[in-house]
This record gives sequence, C-alpha cells and structure tokens, in this order.
Amino acid sequence: MTRTKGYAAREAKGQLSPWIFDRREPGPRDVQFDILYCGVCHSDLHQIKNEWGNSSFPMVPGHELVGRVTKTGTEVSKFKPGDLAAVGCLVDSCRHCDNCAEGLEQYCQNGNSQTYNSMEQDKKTPTYGGYSKLMVAHEDFVFHISDKLPLETVAPLLCAGITTYSPLRHWQVGNGHKIGILGLGGLGHMAVKFASAFGAEVTVLSSSPSKEADSSRLGAHKFLLTKDPVQLKSAQGYFNFIIDTVSAPHDHNVFLGLLRTNGVHICLGAPPKPTEIFGFNLIGGRKSIAGSLIGGLPETQEMLDYCAAQSIVPDVEVIDIKYIHTAYDRMLKGDVHYRFVIDMASL
Ligand code: NAP
Ligand code: ZN
Ligand code: ZN
Repeated sequence: MTRTKGYAAREAKGQLSPWIFDRREPGPRDVQFDILYCGVCHSDLHQIKNEWGNSSFPMVPGHELVGRVTKTGTEVSKFKPGDLAAVGCLVDSCRHCDNCAEGLEQYCQNGNSQTYNSMEQDKKTPTYGGYSKLMVAHEDFVFHISDKLPLETVAPLLCAGITTYSPLRHWQVGNGHKIGILGLGGLGHMAVKFASAFGAEVTVLSSSPSKEADSSRLGAHKFLLTKDPVQLKSAQGYFNFIIDTVSAPHDHNVFLGLLRTNGVHICLGAPPKPTEIFGFNLIGGRKSIAGSLIGGLPETQEMLDYCAAQSIVPDVEVIDIKYIHTAYDRMLKGDVHYRFVIDMASL
C-alpha cells in the first residue's frame, strides 16, 4: 500500500476536505502515476450530494485524471515510468461479457468498476477518484495522451470529451444534419466542438444569454435562448438531433417539439428527478428519446487520438483545490467556462 492524499466527502452534504488514504501497490499489470490535473464534472457534484441515491462515503470524486507514470508492474507493456497517462470514468470491467468483448465496457453486463463511488471487480474494495495525488489502475484502463496538447486541457476529454464524442459517432452525426446542443457547460461545449468538426450545423440551446458570444467562438453556427418563447417557436421541427446535457430537471416535451420527423433527443445529462413525456410528442413525427453513457476503451483512445490530431481541446479554468466549493457553486448557476480543472500541485 502507498499512502496518498486526496480530497474527500464524508457525508452527503456536498463538502470536501483533505483525507489520507491508501492506494494498492501496483500488481503485475498495474500502472501507477502521479495525478497532475483532474477535471471537475457535474457528476462529481451529483454524487457527493447523493442525488442519485447510490453514494458511499468517504468518497474521493474525480474521473478526468491525467498525470505521469512513476511505476509499472512487471508485466506492463503499454507504459513505462515518465510516460503521460490518463484515466477516465472506468477502472475495470468483467472483460468477458458481450459488451466488454465489443469494447463497450461502459455497458458491462456484470457491472463495471467506475473510478470512484464504485467497487473493484472483487465487488468489495471501494474505488477512489482523481481529486488525489496518486493513481493505480490496470494498464488496459489507462490511456495514452499526446504531449502536443497542454496537459490541463486534456483532462476533461476523459469524461466530457468521450461522453459527447461517443453518441455523435454512434448516430453518425455529420454533414447535412442540424443538431441542437442543449446546455453549454462541460459536456455541451465539447459537443459543440465535435459536432461542428464532424460537419453538422450546430445550434447552442442555452438558458444563459451571456454565452451567445462564446458559442460561435466554440464552433456553433446559431444560438437559441431557451427562455425566449419566440425563439423556441421559430425552431419548431428544425433539428435532426438534440444532445441534452442539462444537469437539472427540465421539460423534455419543449425540446421534442424542436425535432423534425425521425429526430432523436439524446439524453446525456442525468438530473436527479424523473421526467414526464407526453406520448404524442414522440408519436407525431416518429421521434425517439435515447441516452448514452461515456464510452468504451477503444473509442476513448480513438477520441484522444482524434483530438490530438485535430488540436481539439476543451476550454478550461484551472483552479486550486481549495476553490472547489466555489467551483461547485458556480457550476450550479451554469457559470462554467467551460470546465474547471484542478491543478493537483495545490493539494
Ligand atoms: P455543467 O458543466 O454544469 O453544464 C450543465 C449545463 O446545463 C449548464 O452549464 C447550463 O447551461 C445548463 N443548465 C440549464 N438549466 C440548468 C439549471 N437549472 N441548473 C444548472 N444548469 C443548467 O455539467 P456537465 O459536467 O456538463 O454535466 C452535465 C450533466 O451530464 C450532469 O447531469 C452530469 O451528471 C451528466 N453526465 C452524464 C454523463 C454520461 O455518461 N451520460 C457523463 C458525464 C456527465 P446553459 O447555461 O447553457 O443553460
Ligand atoms: Zn463525468
Ligand atoms: Zn463485462
């Protein structure tokens, strides 16, 4: 065991404080790395407040980790000390179910091991995330990252990046499609960057008028203020797809009206309360509501390589870990531009 330092929530009150805990010694296939930066996802906030009802404490959040390898197990072939490395939302899975065999570890039929607030595959050892100094993970779940991109900007690709890249690829969004990105936060701004890079016409659907100027800089072609009924009316039946990244409860029926025939509303945001859908809003236009969870191992590496090749990086605000509660407060107000990333040197 190696002692390390982290920031942990001890109860569901949304407060974090320093915590000393142990990481395992690297096994034969494990990679150990110093965490240099960790992104702050809205899921961290949902979970430290137990908004999804499945939280266990103490909890060290964080699933957008990047750093430098310090030690490798005897059988590790992908990494050596000194390499850059990254871990996203998963640290293990059963590896033999149909989904794992297809590289869809996020949908492991036997239950994957998430990076925090989860269990290792022994189903009894808790996992602790990236708001910490040190990480140990099986090399299969550790990604290579480019040294061409600023390291702090790479971190959010590990969740916000892959979570938006994966559904855009799955539904083959590109030339000729009109897509609306609902909510311009961490996930939303990456969806804008990817969808415009893939050739779609991109409209930001935002509740914040102040984000209009940023939208075009991020690659969007249009901006629609969701609080304005006139603007909503003008976009009825317009979109082939809507990517919904809103973290708080909202009325999906409003946005189903913006889809054209065969349109798909893709839920990525995970508000803590269920939503009511009026069946006629789907029936009248053969529309679908779908969802998508992060991405599997091969697609995550593909996305990281794509971002390095195309120089696509998130817009980040690097913070000291002591700023985390202010960052969460700002996140709740939609005041994120567009991902907070913790500089782990501050821990
Ligand atoms: P975020 O940075 O906080 O962005 C969420 C955005 O939603 C806000 O910036 C805001 O954009 C919009 N919003 C609209 N109404 C809001 C309200 N009442 N309160 C707060 N925000 C509101 O969050 P994120 O990290 O992108 O995560 C978004 C959601 O996706 C979360 O629920 C998270 O748990 C979930 N998530 C899902 C997956 C997955 O695999 N499916 C992965 C990661 C995260 P505007 O100002 O433009 O309206
Ligand atoms: Zn996340
Ligand atoms: Zn599996």
